[in-house]
Amino acid sequence: MKIARLSDLADKAACPRLVVKVGSSLLVGKEGVRRDWLEGLVAELAAARARGQEIIVVSSGAIALGAATLKLDKGGRGSLADAQAAAAVGQIALSGLWAQLLGKHGLTAAQLLLTLEDLEDRRRYLNATATLTRLLDAGAVPVINENDSVATQEIRFGDNDRLAARVAQAARASAVLLLSDVDGLYDRNPAEPGARLLTEVRGVTAEIHAMATGGSSSGMGSGGMTSKLQAAEIADLAGIALVIGSGLHAAPIARVTGQGIGTLFRPRRKAGARKAWLGGRLRLKGALTVDGGAAAALGRGSSLLAAGIVGVDGDFQRGDAVAIRDGEGRVLAHGLAEYDAAECGRLIGRQSGEQAAILGYAPRSAVVHRDQLVLL
Ligand code: GLU
Repeated sequence: MKIARLSDLADKAACPRLVVKVGSSLLVGKEGVRRDWLEGLVAELAAARARGQEIIVVSSGAIALGAATLKLDKGGRGSLADAQAAAAVGQIALSGLWAQLLGKHGLTAAQLLLTLEDLEDRRRYLNATATLTRLLDAGAVPVINENDSVATQEIRFGDNDRLAARVAQAARASAVLLLSDVDGLYDRNPAEPGARLLTEVRGVTAEIHAMATGGSSSGMGSGGMTSKLQAAEIADLAGIALVIGSGLHAAPIARVTGQGIGTLFRPRRKAGARKAWLGGRLRLKGALTVDGGAAAALGRGSSLLAAGIVGVDGDFQRGDAVAIRDGEGRVLAHGLAEYDAAECGRLIGRQSGEQAAILGYAPRSAVVHRDQLVLL
């Protein structure tokens, strides 16, 4: 059974495994932790568990909480060092809070702190999958955050929206619910008169991207609509539904599932597990720019041949993930390169039959084989 409407998020058959992401501004207010609100949410999570749904929590708030304790300005986001220190302090309190509140309902919290690399490296990704699966089988509620204290600027998610979508992929969840400080995606800036909440979206098109209006209104989290749409793209590729709903109310899940207030991104396709992982990768080692003929051939399901390549960027090795883009810089696909960057440079525009003469060897005729390639 597929998720076709917002109410399906509360349906065990349609949604046996749900990832719920809680934004910083919901967890932490001016007076510190918003405990009453969180108790209400945890009661809803416990009810979902009682209905037979498995729950994974992705919780923000470590930086905001730690910044308050350490009295750091800009909510701890003034510098990377501040964010790292704040997260180290805040994460202890955050995990303790989840463990305590879930514990009141007889549920066991399990903390996982992940870095981007944990989910980008295939072996580590599969390891995270195994851990999550074991925890769920054992009846625990994983509570996940980015490991902000060790993540550096270049190798961090920076927002928990995309982290939640990647976790959903790794855990093979049915849906992701992003609880935020907005009701969902509006067709224009929600502050403008006549702005309409979209209850259902199919495909994160350029038109949908144009509706996103920048940063989070609270300024506390780092997400905003842009990272939510990126999260929807990652989920879409894996055949996972994603919902944006407001956490500004008591019993926020019931507001989404019972009153139907939120935006459902219905997935259009389902790439195989490995291709979904490849397509959802956020950091790539390089890029291959292709001509119009090669772009069209990729669209028809062909492999990428050297003849269609017009540019090579980055310093990648054979087997690394690269972006494949058109002349305007649009990313068409992700794929695993059969040659390293220097070799690709020498093969640009050449026919497959010439490869052995140019390189002295030519184990593969394609530069990216179609089995190792996912169209975006
Ligand atoms: N990982 C960050 C934290 O715990 C939150 C990231 C976000 O704002 O999405 O504070």
